[in-house]
Amino acid sequence: MAKDKKLVESITSMDEDFAQWYTDVVKKAELCSYTSVKGCMAIKPAGYAIWENIQHELDRRFKETGVENVYMPMLIPESLLQKEKDHVEGFAPEVAWVTHGGLEELQERMCVRPTSETLFCDFYANDIHSYRDLPRVYNQWCSVMRWEKTTRPFLRSREFLWQEGHTAHATAEEAEARTIQMLNVYADFCEEVLAIPVVRGQKTDKEKFAGAEATYTIESLMHDGKALQSGTSHNFGDGFAKAYGVQFADKDNTLKYVHQTSWGMTTRMIGAIIMVHGDNSGLVLPPRIAPTQIMIIPIRQQQEGVLEKANEIKATLAKAGLRVKLDDSEKSPGWKFSEQEMRGIPVRIELGPKDIEAGVAVIVRRDTREKITANIDELAEKVAEVLETEQHDMLERARTHRENHTYDAVTKEEFKQIADEKPGFIRAMWCGCQECEDAIKEDFGVTSRCIPFKQVKLSDTCVYCGKPATKMVYWGKAY
Ligand SMILES: [Zn+2]
Repeated sequence: MAKDKKLVESITSMDEDFAQWYTDVVKKAELCSYTSVKGCMAIKPAGYAIWENIQHELDRRFKETGVENVYMPMLIPESLLQKEKDHVEGFAPEVAWVTHGGLEELQERMCVRPTSETLFCDFYANDIHSYRDLPRVYNQWCSVMRWEKTTRPFLRSREFLWQEGHTAHATAEEAEARTIQMLNVYADFCEEVLAIPVVRGQKTDKEKFAGAEATYTIESLMHDGKALQSGTSHNFGDGFAKAYGVQFADKDNTLKYVHQTSWGMTTRMIGAIIMVHGDNSGLVLPPRIAPTQIMIIPIRQQQEGVLEKANEIKATLAKAGLRVKLDDSEKSPGWKFSEQEMRGIPVRIELGPKDIEAGVAVIVRRDTREKITANIDELAEKVAEVLETEQHDMLERARTHRENHTYDAVTKEEFKQIADEKPGFIRAMWCGCQECEDAIKEDFGVTSRCIPFKQVKLSDTCVYCGKPATKMVYWGKAY
């Protein structure tokens, strides 16, 4: 048994050191590993399988709204990047440059895409001519590179995987509607599939995307009380179109600029899953995103008939559309239990000779460790039911955690005290001035997360300056 315990003992307790706990889980659950390329990670099969499920589910939801996938080059000539002033200023500190092609120095250096607005604008400028060509609702799955100074697996790496949607529309109203539509796709995906509750809202001007007219965001709260920006959707108005000359002949035969949007979600959502649901035994995956939903672990598997029955059950569950594996390795059951827990597999089925004799199997939930004895004949229906309950409970637990860690501040003193002592979201009224936003960051160490769509009036005055308030804002320390 001493050996069985080792896998779990080597994880730091999350209450002791959350950052170290996170690193331990990433490593022990074999999600990714460090590489010789500084700031970049190797995503291992267990991590990549989660990303594949994120991709499948998001892609399906995108396509239901009319999105088509395309692919653009990974390099951006400097002159192309320079065309939109705010955009280039926003990204300049973190772009990586290619200066040579083979042994020759390039006449014009090119950056590795930190995001592809410029490439899509260049493409659309040539591709869109008439109102009949609109709307264009394109998306690409790719990696981007941002030269981050400090990096953490999944949360912040120099190269990361994402999708970036880029759309072009004939009218401002249509672009705004698409921006909100995609934010809602992200929000529903987070809540329904990842069991992560989100706050939907708008970024302040200070926090919005470089070159955007408006940035909308979904913000989630991690177990340690820090916020994570989980997906963003930007309305560019016609700013990029004017900078890149993306025009179309409208029905009235006049030339007009298109209105554009962009929206993205990244591999950092894997980090969010870890930090919202994980516990001191490791990862806990929501059933709908888990690459393996069920691990069958035989007890006394050397005894006649045990493996045979386990394989039979595996086949039945797979046939019912469940993602199931059987651990028939030589390791002890205790070791297999802790491995299954570490990897966050939502349920395990324990099956021994006595169970088989009684015609039952034991289902154990990963999140609560609740044990449910079920008849083998009804196992497929029962497990499916347990997985659905677990999915639902995980969302509700995360929602309760967020609600218990969301605080209202009416005065500056209250704000300071909460920011110092209580990790979580702080809701407070704001006058709309960037001076106050800057001062709050400077004095209290939190940033504005979003102006939520669902507004609540906590008082009449700005929490910082006391002038009339215009909006309620979520504040917090963020990843
Ligand atoms: Zn103020």
